[in-house]
Amino acid sequence: MRVGHAQCLVPEEVLRKVLKAAMMTGADFAEVFVEDTSTETITMEDGKIENVNSGRDKGAGIRVVKGETSSYCFTDSLEERDLLEAARTAAGALMGARGDYTIDLTRRDVPLISPVSKYPWETTKTQKAEFLHRADRAARAYDPLISQVTAGLLEIVRNTTIANSEGVLAADSVIRSRFTVSALATKNGILQTGTATIGKTMGLEILDIKSPEDLGREAARQAIVNVHAAPAPSGPMTVVMTNGWGGVLFHEACGHSLEADSILRGSSVFAGKIGQRVARECVTAIDDPTIPNEWGSYGVDDEGNPGQRTVLIENGILRSYMYDRKSAVKDKHRFTGNGRRMSYRYIAIPRMTNTFIAPYSGKEEDIIADTQEGLYAKGLRGGQVNPATGDFVFTVSEAYLIRNGKIGDPVRGATLIGNGLTTLGEIDAVADNLDFGPGNCGKSGQSVPAACGQPALRIRRITVGGTDRRSAERRG
Ligand SMILES: [Zn+2]
Repeated sequence: MRVGHAQCLVPEEVLRKVLKAAMMTGADFAEVFVEDTSTETITMEDGKIENVNSGRDKGAGIRVVKGETSSYCFTDSLEERDLLEAARTAAGALMGARGDYTIDLTRRDVPLISPVSKYPWETTKTQKAEFLHRADRAARAYDPLISQVTAGLLEIVRNTTIANSEGVLAADSVIRSRFTVSALATKNGILQTGTATIGKTMGLEILDIKSPEDLGREAARQAIVNVHAAPAPSGPMTVVMTNGWGGVLFHEACGHSLEADSILRGSSVFAGKIGQRVARECVTAIDDPTIPNEWGSYGVDDEGNPGQRTVLIENGILRSYMYDRKSAVKDKHRFTGNGRRMSYRYIAIPRMTNTFIAPYSGKEEDIIADTQEGLYAKGLRGGQVNPATGDFVFTVSEAYLIRNGKIGDPVRGATLIGNGLTTLGEIDAVADNLDFGPGNCGKSGQSVPAACGQPALRIRRITVGGTDRRSAERRG
């Protein structure tokens, strides 16, 4: 294991004092989360740099737990006296006997999951702006119908230090970069957009995987396909989804229901189903923050617990949920390293990291060839999910009809309408070509980076909402 060498943001001696102060009213557990995050975004619209934003967010949050009660207090200062004051405030919210505590901290080895070769500060803003210009030029050169291009680069450097009254001391440093291009195509009053994104836990070497030109052309290609496409049909259909970002469907419609807080609230369709069949043999679903350089990767979670690969569903059988500390203690489960927070202002809650359907067998081409009639979904945009029921609507960003095992004409405006658990049971083929896409996952007002992934797969039957008036009339 390669070990990271992130520095502690606050001296160990101070962390010990803060924890001692936090434990003074007889708490069972106290934790300090310290963060120093720098963010830089550069955005471009119509060939002009619109915005260069740099921000730094530094502070600490202190949590004190006693039985079922907990209190949280944060400060934007890392000075010893401010940290102690926050600790006393958090402790003061819990009534209890004054105790005297000895806190011994043992520094944890944090694995270096995501090595970086091109650090954000090694490239000038002018050079970064030139990447955006290159994407813009490539998108416009792709087709004269491209009428607008926007592009953006986001870089995040997030340093964290976590210490708790059980002796854990861990420090991690994570660098993420994301490059996005959107293109608009216009023809006879029809406007269609295409978007291409790459986002990884690495530096600007992301652009060695896909160049600004690759991304610009990809965004333009999608927009052009859609501007020429016919309206999508509607009704129940077989859908083959390509590999990559389409995993967001599993993330949203099933993944959130596998986070332990929703299980313990009793609001999840997966509650009480461990060991039961929830999908076919070909479906294995995993959450894994230890994939080198993937968008949702880290060495330790925001509670200092090592990130780990958690098999959620194994060949169709439900195996595990994702836990933060609180839900693990309550459910008497080991930690799974899924306690995450948006910043030091928030408590950690169970969150997904890189969540994906695992590769199974066979080729995407063979799944398509084996499908008589259906829809080939080459990309998904965002969607809406009712968290209580898992009912969802997702917009397909690029789609084609499948006829006699062959990909046919493009269609636009298709949506996928269904239910998480039902649709999971309808997946009857999974290929071997796993890929990921980067996203921002929102929950309880907290947004965290999360990757969604899958190999190409087939959903035997799902409702497609289309815009073709003829099929709407047929539907009555
Ligand atoms: Zn989410």
